[in-house]
Amino acid sequence: MIVQELRKIQDRCKGYLPVEELHALSARTGTPLHRLHEVITFFPHFRLEPPPAVEVRVCRDMACHLRNAGRLERNLKAFAAELDGKQVHVEGVSCLGQCDHAPALVINDHVYWDVDEATLRDRIARALADPDSLPHQHADRSPPGWRIDPYNGEPRYEQIRKFVETRDGDAVLKTLEASGLKGMGGAGFPTHRKWAAVRAEAGPTKYVVCNADESEPGTFKDRELMRRAPHLLVEGMALAGLVTGAAHGYVYIRHEFEEEIEAMERAIEAARAAGLCGDRILGSDLSFPLEVFVSPGNYICGEESALLEAMEDRRAEPRNKPPFPVQAGLYGKPTVINNVETLSWVPAILAHGGEWYKSQGVRGATGLRFVSISGDVNQPGVYEVPFGQTVRELIDQAGGMRDGQQLKAIAPSGPSSGFLPAQARREALPPRFVADHMAADASTFDVLDLPLDSATLGKAGSMLGAAFVAYGDKACMVDNALNCTEFFRNESCGKCVPCRLGSQKLTDLLRSIAAGRDGKGGLSAVGELSETMMLTSICGLGQVAANPLTSLMRHFRDELDEHVERGRCPAGVCRAG
Ligand code: SF4
Repeated sequence: MIVQELRKIQDRCKGYLPVEELHALSARTGTPLHRLHEVITFFPHFRLEPPPAVEVRVCRDMACHLRNAGRLERNLKAFAAELDGKQVHVEGVSCLGQCDHAPALVINDHVYWDVDEATLRDRIARALADPDSLPHQHADRSPPGWRIDPYNGEPRYEQIRKFVETRDGDAVLKTLEASGLKGMGGAGFPTHRKWAAVRAEAGPTKYVVCNADESEPGTFKDRELMRRAPHLLVEGMALAGLVTGAAHGYVYIRHEFEEEIEAMERAIEAARAAGLCGDRILGSDLSFPLEVFVSPGNYICGEESALLEAMEDRRAEPRNKPPFPVQAGLYGKPTVINNVETLSWVPAILAHGGEWYKSQGVRGATGLRFVSISGDVNQPGVYEVPFGQTVRELIDQAGGMRDGQQLKAIAPSGPSSGFLPAQARREALPPRFVADHMAADASTFDVLDLPLDSATLGKAGSMLGAAFVAYGDKACMVDNALNCTEFFRNESCGKCVPCRLGSQKLTDLLRSIAAGRDGKGGLSAVGELSETMMLTSICGLGQVAANPLTSLMRHFRDELDEHVERGRCPAGVCRAG
């Protein structure tokens, strides 16, 4: 695999890809140099020049933005200039998946969180003198007693053992169907149907790929699952492989998740040593080799077909669908692609039964899920919660709003969902939501009462995801809409013109509004631009990139008008203030 070879070369060669190494790789693998460059230039992780002695990248998205990551970046840039502007480089970076510890940053590939600025300066200065002086920050790996883990942290792999005895794939699929388990990665496709579709495809070569490229700002639950309970993912993947007849499994994981990569590799090795994956499982004629594939980066790799492109050593540009991966996935073969949480639920569902999982939901919703909550709450983190619980219950679980702030807005699915205000005006909500959830005489809906399930969020014109960001009353929604839109602009792969240019246009417009320059003319074109992007973008990124701005226009019109009409930021955050 070229991508993995490039990673190894870069690790070995002090952080870059020397020309002679590329020539050697080209000769060794028979890959033309232009093909190598095609891949290298797509992924920012790869470098053709030696990096500076110290490279600092400060996360700039959602929770980190709310916690003054911009100021930290500016301060560290000034400090770098004092030290040695050539050898110490500071820049922004897209979400590092540490939103519960915002602001997070990376120094020479070491991810740090909850570290004060004085300590960071000290580490930067020491790293300039001795790059090996940088400490590795460890995260807690203890099992927290989640209901998802039927083994309470002890990897017993009872469901693999049972399957090897019974060989009853039909029973597994029936139990998954009864549970109502759906994909937790965003699309919400029923898991049993995906597995059944791959099972029904002719073999012999099929694959299981776990999408562990968790990169949506605000999402970090899969990180916790892999680090604290990696055995659940190993067992879920092995069962997916055994039920569908797949030949091989890959955990596709983002390169910044060093601890999680290590935890997964260790769990896979332990399972292999115990005969629970790999060749001849438990001495039977069943096999399912499993390995980790470290992603070379980019948010777009979380799109399932882009991920497959990266695994096939190409630029990670999403594919047109159909065909879908269940028919033509990795190397054109039938492939189950599920997210970490989806696969990790399988052992518990098989242990306790489909009805057990289904009945855990509240207010008519089905099942349990993990949610990452960040932003202006006292205890940001990962919580195992029932589908259907309200925003109020979730925020209470996260210790309430920070610094005595009132809730101003939520982003229930990171930047993709756009924002909902704490009090949503009747006329700004879709008629179906108003009919089903509002009293006839109510002029506003209290978002704290909103049940968090896909159907209700969809009716509210939003979407349910695992990335829940709470905004307090000190936040400026224009500023945060700009922050989210810049994220999409930065991460657009550029394949579709409407997404590539549209995300830049939206960013320019919000920038000029935040800066107090006239944006009125631009706002009148947003509806058409948003619809064009929605209809013509190949993947979800382009389809949702306008949501932060359109939700701002729908729900925060007064605040937007203050910026546009009077050049004033009521929260005093934007330069317009
Ligand atoms: Fe790339 Fe955007 Fe098109 Fe998706 S919509 S394929 S991110 S250009």
